[in-house]
Amino acid sequence: MDEPTNNPADGGSSPRRPVVAAVQLAPAQEAYSAYATHFTGCGACRDLDRTCETGTELWRAWRRESDAAGRLLRGETA
Ligand SMILES: [Zn+2]
Repeated sequence: MDEPTNNPADGGSSPRRPVVAAVQLAPAQEAYSAYATHFTGCGACRDLDRTCETGTELWRAWRRESDAAGRLLRGETA
């Protein structure tokens, strides 16, 4: 009996692209992604005794976008 597998043969006609490359993220998601990507690669951000201007700005940008999304969901106008 043939069982379905997670590895179907596609003939190699179209290379698979990462899902993230085909999806448009919301501004708050983009901002969080930028912050998280920076944070995970930045020693200053992960050190409690240091500050990082870039990390702080990316954090603030995410908060701004997140607050804007919240206002939008609540039906508030600017
Ligand atoms: Zn940093």
